[in-house]
Amino acid sequence: MDSQAIVRLERIGVTYPNGVVALKSVSLQLNRGEFAVVLGASGAGKSTLLRTINYLKPPSQGTLTVSGLGDLNTPSVLRSHRQQTGMIFQQHQLIERQSALQNVLMGRLSYYSFWRSLMPLPKKDQQLALDCLKRVGLVEKALTQVKSLSGGQRQRVGIARALAQQPQLMLADEPIASLDPASAHNVLSLLRSICKTDGISALLSLHQVEFAREYGDRIIGLADGQVVFDAPPSALSDRDLQEIYTAPLDTQFADYAGVRTFNPQTTKTSEELEHYGWN
Ligand code: ADP
Ligand code: MG
Repeated sequence: MDSQAIVRLERIGVTYPNGVVALKSVSLQLNRGEFAVVLGASGAGKSTLLRTINYLKPPSQGTLTVSGLGDLNTPSVLRSHRQQTGMIFQQHQLIERQSALQNVLMGRLSYYSFWRSLMPLPKKDQQLALDCLKRVGLVEKALTQVKSLSGGQRQRVGIARALAQQPQLMLADEPIASLDPASAHNVLSLLRSICKTDGISALLSLHQVEFAREYGDRIIGLADGQVVFDAPPSALSDRDLQEIYTAPLDTQFADYAGVRTFNPQTTKTSEELEHYGWN
C-alpha cells in the first residue's frame, strides 16, 4: 500500500443474507487528508460502502486494507481500526435523555474496557469532550439534554463525539439528510474545516450533487453497487451525473425489497453499539 493511502479496497463485493448484491467489485483508495464524497441515488450502496470500511459489514469478496494494521478479522486489530475511525450517522444516533457532554464522552469509551467505562471517565477525557463541544460551537449546551437540541445542533454533537475519538478517518453516512439547507451547509463546512485542521481523512455519503460539488475534494459516484465516477468535482459532467443517477430497474426493485426486509432504524442502532464495542 503506498504511503498516501489510509484505506484501500480491492474488488470488494458485498451480498446481504437476503441475496441483495449491494457492492460489486469496488476498488478505491482513500488518501491522507482527503475529504471525499460518495455520491449516489438511494439504494446505490453508499451506506454499505461506509459500513464495510468500518467492518460493520465485512466484505463477502475482495480485500480491505487499513494503513498500519493487519488482518481486520483479528479482534484486537478490528478494535484499533474502530478506535481510529470516527463514525457520524444519518440520524445522529445520540442518546436523547443524556446531555450533549455525556454523548460526546461516548466517543472516549473505546479507549476503556467495558467495566471501566461504567464508571466516570478520567478528567482528561471530560476535558477533551468539552474541547470537542467547543470546536463545534456548543460548549454552552454541554449539560443540555440532546432531546431539546435542534437537528443541526444534534449533528454537531455527533461530530464532536466522533472527534473525541481522535480519529484518523471520519466516516459520515448522509450526515445532512435530515437537515434544512442552512443547517446542512453549517454542518458540512464545520466538518470539513475540522478534518482539514486536524489532518483527518473523511469519506461521507451524500445524495445531493450541489453539496458534493461544494465540499468534496473528490467525488466517488456509486450506481448499482459500482464505482462509475472517481475524480475531483471539476471533472463531473452532466453525462457522469446521468450515469450516477440512472439505476437499472431491477436495483430499484431490490431497494424496495430491501426496505421491506430490514428496518434501518434498528439496524443502525445495534451497529452504533457495535461501533462502540458494546456487543
Ligand atoms: P444507499 O445507502 O446508497 O441508499 P444501501 O447501501 O443502504 O444504499 O443499500 C444498497 C442495497 O442493499 C439496496 O438494494 C438495499 O435495499 C440493500 N440493503 C441494504 N442494507 C440491507 C440489509 N441489512 N439487508 C438486506 N439488504 C440491504
Ligand atoms: Mg444510505
